[in-house]
Amino acid sequence: MGDNEAMVSGECTAAPERMVTTGSQEPAAIFVARFDRTPYTGQLLRNSRGACPVRMWIKDPIAIFAERAGRGVVVDDGRIVELVPFGAEPAARVDQVFDASRHVVVPGLINTHHHMLQTLTRAHPAALNKELFPWLDVLFPIWAKHLNPDNFRLATRLALTELLMSGCTAASDHQYLYTPGLEEAMDIQAEEAAALGLRITLTPALST
Ligand SMILES: [Zn+2]
Repeated sequence: MGDNEAMVSGECTAAPERMVTTGSQEPAAIFVARFDRTPYTGQLLRNSRGACPVRMWIKDPIAIFAERAGRGVVVDDGRIVELVPFGAEPAARVDQVFDASRHVVVPGLINTHHHMLQTLTRAHPAALNKELFPWLDVLFPIWAKHLNPDNFRLATRLALTELLMSGCTAASDHQYLYTPGLEEAMDIQAEEAAALGLRITLTPALST
């Protein structure tokens, strides 16, 4: 990772029983990006609908991707309800203050092209440093022999977690392998995305 790569950090007082994927009109999880070398330690700010459960002032960020919000934003149930300009404080009571003085606040990033199943074999020694087709020649037999619902679920979970940790709140996966036993691959991916709170577009495509 580069020195300026965003890290996701935050706090949440609620322990949701079950996460669900939020639709495009639903409140989004709130992410606070951290521009230093601190390892990921936090959680997403969200509740069971993917939203922050309390009225929270994300206060005094280093920078924010919004106008007239120099002192941050107030979020309530996952929605930005107030911009707080320089020299001001939130108009209404807040339940919690998140000290963003070492953070920048940005919208969630969107990854539009992923092949999450490849996560498990991306460091396979036989496939390293190869052009596309030699690389596929190595990996297709491995995938055909070993891919199953359990490790496909693990690959999806790992890929989604990596996305979250780099600030992605939405993703599209291009899943193209349906070996015997993987007929329910789309359901597995939908479940994993729901559990982690990402928005996801599932594309059962061979080539994209
Ligand atoms: Zn591709």
